[in-house]
Amino acid sequence: MNVAVVLYTSDLRLHDHPPLRAALSSCDRVVPLFVRDPAVDAAGFAAPNRLAFLADCLADLDTALRDRGGRLVLRSGDTVDEVCTLVRSQDADEVHMAAGVSGYARAREERLRAALEAEGRRLYTHEGVVTAAAPGSLVPAGSDHFAVFTPYFRRWAGVPLRRVLAAPRSVPVPEGIGSDPLPRRQAVAGVSPGLARGGEREARTLLTRWLNGGLARYEELHDDLAADGTSRLSPHLHFGTLSATEAVQRARAAGGPGGEAFVRQLCWRDFHHQVLAARPDSAARDYRGRGDRWRTGAAADEETEAWREGRTGYPVVDAAMRQLRHEGWMHNRGRLLAASFLTKTLYVDWRVGARHFLDLLVDGDLANNQLNWQWVAGTGTDTRPNRVLNPVRQGHRFDPEGRYVHRWVPELAGLAVPQLHEPWRLPGPERARYDYPDPVVALADGLDRFRRGRGVE
Ligand code: FAD
Repeated sequence: MNVAVVLYTSDLRLHDHPPLRAALSSCDRVVPLFVRDPAVDAAGFAAPNRLAFLADCLADLDTALRDRGGRLVLRSGDTVDEVCTLVRSQDADEVHMAAGVSGYARAREERLRAALEAEGRRLYTHEGVVTAAAPGSLVPAGSDHFAVFTPYFRRWAGVPLRRVLAAPRSVPVPEGIGSDPLPRRQAVAGVSPGLARGGEREARTLLTRWLNGGLARYEELHDDLAADGTSRLSPHLHFGTLSATEAVQRARAAGGPGGEAFVRQLCWRDFHHQVLAARPDSAARDYRGRGDRWRTGAAADEETEAWREGRTGYPVVDAAMRQLRHEGWMHNRGRLLAASFLTKTLYVDWRVGARHFLDLLVDGDLANNQLNWQWVAGTGTDTRPNRVLNPVRQGHRFDPEGRYVHRWVPELAGLAVPQLHEPWRLPGPERARYDYPDPVVALADGLDRFRRGRGVE
């Protein structure tokens, strides 16, 4: 009997899973393994929302494996040590896993490869598991990655994707392997009350419902804050309960303007992953430094705290920040304008905002979070680095009836548009009726700070 270990990381599914299929085709038995590694937690993964979602995903994966005659093995400790211990105990010849993207994931992969090879065993890393196109597979002439989205998208759209793989019918796992108990969502403290449910079954249901429903109007509604007209698949793509390759293929097959617009967004995900893979330090450092002299000190801290709590005095920004806290998720338009407000109006370092998002976002990941923050801050891949989103205009444009603000800022429930997006303009006695803060800074002053700090006219 020969045995392979399948090491799960950000790919918690059975459908369209190349490492599992490869292991099953070369060995009689496989050990599906997930390692809770304290180093991953210490690197910032261990936010309550993601831990709770992870618990759902692991439970669901275990159930799906049991339905196929197997089960999930969970271990805690250093990933390389745990894999090596398991491999030795089962005398497994090979380990299969998804190729990683971040600097951390790739360093871990190299350590694991070296440790396994020292014992005469092999590590197989599979591309196109976490993203649709492997980072590094598309490169422009003279560079190791695309620094601008549109040319990347043109290239990406023309490359045929691999075939989507069915889930295996049976997953034979050797008897008697010890496993830690699976974590329980209920045991995680500090979870957002409106957090979505995790797991592959949930992901597949959501995807099918989305393709048959919301997708058709996606192009028209994706920026409408109140319509909630986006797929909400991001946590599933982050945890890999849904394969990006499958999402792209099925959206292409569904077609229409909605299908095209949705596939373009999925390409943004691959785009950021290929930037991070080529420039691992862009998770923490400016991708393109602009000489910013970000504000620090007591006033900046106080304003940042108001931003975190959703009481900046700008209703649409506050609505977005409160949605984040309540759901562990935020609408993309909300993310854009909340991030622009922090970096370009308060003129606070993007890393401060990215950290707060990572503390709460269930889909929070280094590639998409840090590089979107950099895009908004103008230190990333945006070709117009000094653009500033005006929260009042954004409110009128993307929440024209004020339904999004009313949903998340109940203090303003009695106020209608247009005043809703600028409550400070109300005459004194009327203003006093609303228990809502004054703006932390006037927009003109914010703009001035940004321009002076960055040295732009
Ligand atoms: P849909 O509109 O349905 O899009 C489908 C999928 O495309 C998303 O699930 C996502 O995987 C991908 N996608 C869409 N927009 C983007 C984008 N701009 N960049 C990369 N991928 C995209 N996305 C994350 O997955 N994790 C993050 O940590 C994250 N942080 C962000 C921080 C900021 C400041 C900004 C501006 C954006 C961030 N995004 C992040 C991107 C985007 O906001 C979310 O992916 C999207 O809102 C998720 O909702 P959805 O699944 O309904 O998206």
